[in-house]
Order: sequence, then structure tokens, then C-alpha cells
Amino acid sequence: MLFRSTSSAPAVGEPLPLDPTAPVIRTRGIEKAFPTGPSQTYALRRIALDIQPGEFVSIMGPSGAGKSTLLHILGLHDHAWTGEYMLMGQPVHAMNSKQRAALQKRATGFVFQAYHLLDDLTVYENIELPLSYRDVPKGERQTLVADVLDRFGIVAKKDLYPTQLSGGQQQLVGIARAIVGNPSVILADEPTGNLHSSQAQEIMELFKQLNERGTTVVQVTHSEANAAYGSRVIRLRDGYLEQA
Ligand code: ADP
Repeated sequence: MLFRSTSSAPAVGEPLPLDPTAPVIRTRGIEKAFPTGPSQTYALRRIALDIQPGEFVSIMGPSGAGKSTLLHILGLHDHAWTGEYMLMGQPVHAMNSKQRAALQKRATGFVFQAYHLLDDLTVYENIELPLSYRDVPKGERQTLVADVLDRFGIVAKKDLYPTQLSGGQQQLVGIARAIVGNPSVILADEPTGNLHSSQAQEIMELFKQLNERGTTVVQVTHSEANAAYGSRVIRLRDGYLEQA
């Protein structure tokens, strides 16, 4: 065991005692390999990473370095890895899929480069979706979605469908959906990769504001300008974390 703390997961159905004072993210010895013929190719090697509450971290590095792979592990989208991962004091590595799903919904929000909105749902319905997965009562859902629509200045767009929006507006909806449940950490995979520079700036300003309100932000980016919005850069190369 690489951690001193207990690594037993809570029983299924037990509320997760998230620790707001623990590192939001703490990994030790994370390894991820893809089978390639008779051997395997490592995408990540011995990743030891600590991210504290309130940080705004940018993950940078050349294409193929493992950035996306790492972000998807941190966002609990990928479970085929070895090592240890504590998310707000909770041992992800010791959890079953049901526990991981509950932790993911409760603690994380994920923003994709290509937005990943559902085209047959309206803006309102897209933002509401994660709350319905969390069994938030209807009245409370309406209040939370209305608040986010208002904060992001997209109230007038609420009945439109994603294809009726610009890329920048779609990404605003993608971020609204990621934060509507008030996650502790937002993970964003090249969130401005498909946007014009003015739209990209608007999106980065929004992340900065969310971070100033206390949300931890972790983004993958190729852009030094985007990284400048954050408080720390970590670099990956050939699957290894470069020492600062
Ligand atoms: P980055 O985000 O830094 O561009 P990735 O995390 O996408 O890098 O990929 C890291 C490495 O893992 C690359 O060598 C890539 O080819 C490999 N890889 C990623 N996904 C797969 C997959 N599904 N099958 C095989 N190899 C993969």
C-alpha cells in the first residue's frame, strides 16, 4: 500500500464521506497499458500527482504523452489501470463500479473538447440531465438549472437545441452541465480546442471565475495562453510526469 490511510471502500449504499480538506486528487503509481499485439504499450507510468482544493492545474505535453488518458482516469471514466487514486479522501482504486459512479456524480464534472451534448434534448434538458441521474427532486432541479442559465447568460437559449448554437455557446452549455451539481472538481479535456480565440477566452474566463468561487479545475491544454489562466502546469512526456 502506498497510502497510510485506510484503503477500504465504504459499503454500497453508504453515503460517501468526502473530505474537503484532503487533496482533491492524490495518485500514486498509476499505470495504464494498452495491449499491442503480443506485448503492451504503456500510456501512463508511475503517475504520482497531488492536486489540492482550489488549485487550477493545466496538464500539458506533446501529442500522445498520455494527457487525455490521465484526465479520463481522474474523471472516473476509465477503470482499466493499476495504482492508487484517492479522490477527496475516497479510495477509487478500492471501489466497485457502483461506488465509483456515485463518487463521479457527486464530486466531478467533465467538459469535453467536442461538447458531447445530446442533440435531441434542449439546452435546459441537457443541463438538467446530470441532476436527474442524481435523483434531485424536480423543484430543486428547476432552481439549480435556472441559476446556472442565469449565471452563464444563456436564459434566452434554454429551449434551443445544440445544433442551433455556436460552438462557444455549446461549450457554455457543456460547462453548465458539468457544474450544475456543484462538483468539487471540474476536469476539462482541451475545452477550447474547437473554438475561435474570442470564444476560447470567454470559456477560460468562466473557468477562472468558477475556480475563484472555490471549484478545483484541471484542464488538458496545448495552449500556453489557456495555461496562463491556471495556477500550475504539470507536464507529461511519454507517459511520465516530468518533475517540476
Ligand atoms: P495525449 O492526450 O497526450 O495526446 P493520449 O492519452 O490520447 O495522449 O494517448 C497516450 C498514448 O496511449 C498514445 O501513445 C496513444 O497512442 C495510446 N492510446 C490511447 N488510446 C489508445 C487505445 N484505445 N488503444 C491503444 N493505444 C491507445
